[in-house]
Amino acid sequence: MSATLELAKQLITHRSVTPADDGCQALIAERMRPVGFSSENVSSNGVTNTWLRRGTVNPVFVFAGHTDVVPPGPREHWASDPFEPSVRGDVLYGRGASDMKSSVAAFVVATEEFVRAHGAHRGSIALLLTSDEEGPATDGTVKVVESLRARGESIDYCVVGEPTSVAALGDTIKNGRRGSLSGKLTVVGVQGHVAYPQLARNPVHQVAPALAALACERWDDGNEFFPPTTFQVSNIRAGTGALNVVPGTCEIDFNLRFASASSAEALMQRIESLLLRHKLEFAVKWTIGAQPFLTAPGALSESITRAIREVTGRTTELSTTGGTSDGRFISTFCKQVIEFGPPNSSIHKIDEHIALADLEPLKDIYCRTLELLLT
Ligand SMILES: [Zn+2]
Repeated sequence: MSATLELAKQLITHRSVTPADDGCQALIAERMRPVGFSSENVSSNGVTNTWLRRGTVNPVFVFAGHTDVVPPGPREHWASDPFEPSVRGDVLYGRGASDMKSSVAAFVVATEEFVRAHGAHRGSIALLLTSDEEGPATDGTVKVVESLRARGESIDYCVVGEPTSVAALGDTIKNGRRGSLSGKLTVVGVQGHVAYPQLARNPVHQVAPALAALACERWDDGNEFFPPTTFQVSNIRAGTGALNVVPGTCEIDFNLRFASASSAEALMQRIESLLLRHKLEFAVKWTIGAQPFLTAPGALSESITRAIREVTGRTTELSTTGGTSDGRFISTFCKQVIEFGPPNSSIHKIDEHIALADLEPLKDIYCRTLELLLT
């Protein structure tokens, strides 16, 4: 059995439903010690984080990944136990098979192979592992980054093992992610009897034209790397349940996925002035879930692109689509952050899986990237 498959299966047996790590990181730390990695526990509020490093000089190359997984859902919906890795045909099944225990296994094995072949490599190699990526992400990667920054460490290249491929391994890598801005809007009216509307003020009626305007607004045109900013309403609540009462308030939750073409502050201001123009009495509670980040093409994206071509023959596409990721925290102090991992079609689903044929090439691409940058 390939070392990558063996380790991926081993990690899947650990029931690390977020924020649990269930021993995954200790197992990896133990394994990396013979190839010269010191390990440091940076755990915070019940979240397990580990920083493993070999070497003391720059450039520092980091593989980042998470050992936590999303809950599997009802066992009976799975064809086999989500925490008992099962190979059926040419496919490995189990929770975390594609998000992202196989990537973690692949970069661990790639690092071992690289170090054994190039003991005198340039720079340093580090692994950043967290068990708080699928949860609130408040005690995971962000804490490791804070502690590294506090003691003046810097990193030069970071590969995050998120599953970025779409139809085939290596067809897509992420060189950035959009930001996420949420608003909880409360529009205030006056509650009353539907038969006496002159004595009430209906906040649903008042907000409707403003909502139409928000839904049609063109926020920006995106740019070379990002699609245009989007706005979506996720929840609307108003009314007492009775058919004869004008509601006193209307609450609307919305989210924007924004590009580097707009700032969160500018978007908040535009939305509030639009609401004022519609003469609404309102309050908005804002949450900036994530700032956007972008890695301009450079040594790291070029090396991964070349490694993917050499190993798979494919030409990769740089993309910034999809949800937020821990890349946003690392990008605050590392200029080159790229996400690359296996196909993502089964992530978070019942019967999550990865094709066995993708495991060795994934490991080889990680290993080749190390060679291109550190030898
Ligand atoms: Zn993930």
